[in-house]
Formats: sequence, C-alpha cells, structure tokens
Amino acid sequence: MFFWDPTMVILIPAVILSLYAQMKINSTYHQYSQVGSRKGMTGADVARYILNKNGLYDVPIERVQGHLSDHYDPRSRVVRLSAGVHDSTSIAALGVAAHEVGHAVQHDSGYMPLYIRNTIIPITQIGSYISIPLLLLGFLMGSPSLVELGILLFAGIVFFQLVTLPVEFNASRRAVAVLGGDAILTQDELNGTKKVLQAAALTYVAAALMAVLQLVRLLLISGVLGGRDD
Ligand SMILES: [Zn+2]
Repeated sequence: MFFWDPTMVILIPAVILSLYAQMKINSTYHQYSQVGSRKGMTGADVARYILNKNGLYDVPIERVQGHLSDHYDPRSRVVRLSAGVHDSTSIAALGVAAHEVGHAVQHDSGYMPLYIRNTIIPITQIGSYISIPLLLLGFLMGSPSLVELGILLFAGIVFFQLVTLPVEFNASRRAVAVLGGDAILTQDELNGTKKVLQAAALTYVAAALMAVLQLVRLLLISGVLGGRDD
C-alpha cells in the first residue's frame, strides 16, 4: 500500500504538533473551565450581549449537545453553543462563546477570508471524498491525469485549511477585544481566556500543517516534485 512508504516521515512534525495541540487544548480548557468570571455572565449572556452590540438581534443562540461542539452556522445564521459553554460562567466558556459570535460578526461584516472559506466548502467536501480514491485509481491504472486531478482536489482541501487560519485568529481577536474592552472580564481573567483561545488556534495550525505536508508527500509520491523517472 503506497500509504506506508518512506515519505510518511514527512508527516511526523504534523503528527507531533497535532498530539501536542490536542493535549494543550484539553488541559487548558479543563483548567480554565473551573475558573468562574467575577461578573457572572454565562456563555449565552455574553453571546447575546456581543450579538446585540453588533446589531445582530435576529441571530439566535441555540443550546446544543456535545463537548465543545460550539460553532456558528453561516447558512442558518445561528450561534450554537454546547451546554457546557451556554450555561457556564467560566472564563473558558466565555472565550468560546465570544469566539463563535466573532464568526457571526465576520459573516455580517463580509469579512473576506470567511467568505472565501464558505464559498469553497462544497469543493472541499467533494475533494475529501474522492481525492484519495482518484489518486489510488490513477496509480493502479497508470493514469497521470487521474493522479493530477486527485492532487488538485487535495490542494483545494489544503487551501481550505490555510484560509481557515485567519478566520479563526480573527474571531479570537474580536473575542478578546470585546471581553476586555467592555469589561466583561478583568485583565487577569482575560489572560486565562487568551490561553484557551490560543490553544484552540494551535489545533487549526496543526491541521493546516498536516494538510500541507500531506500535499508535499502526494506530490513526491506522484513524481510531480523531482524523482520522476520517465
Ligand atoms: Zn472558530
């Protein structure tokens, strides 16, 4: 199986970073989810406050199942908060809630990286299903054009992961700005919240690195980058 070849070593940095990021977000979130904010607003309170502050009165907040399943859904314009964030007054929960609302504000203000990201979602969804099967088929059939098509689709996934980075960093920046600027959190509380958001950002960096290195590896295997003996 060509998935288990020497080029696998290329992925090692991304594997290590992914494991580290996962450990970091779990421990940081766990630590700061035990620290209640002095003001006592819940994640839902904070989300509503920031939405209203930005004139987004018509964007509802829904309470959903799952651990850290929090997200903003741009299609239905809904902020969905997990129960552990929605009902919690912890500085970790407030950071997550404010971050998700940050995406709603990005959407409303036409923030370009979010627009690009949402636009290419259908392509990356197709790509994630068929890029690797196409590559395999291309190798089996000895068809360079199938291999190239598979790589092109995979490159779309890589681009998606990369454009996700500014979207995520910007949402966290917006969250910190409003939590501190509007005195929802004190400065020392905000420091804890920042650590949670930075740890979350690291998981996106790890995912992007993994995607980039996978692409490098696929290019090496396919011979597009050097070593083509034709
Ligand atoms: Zn986000």
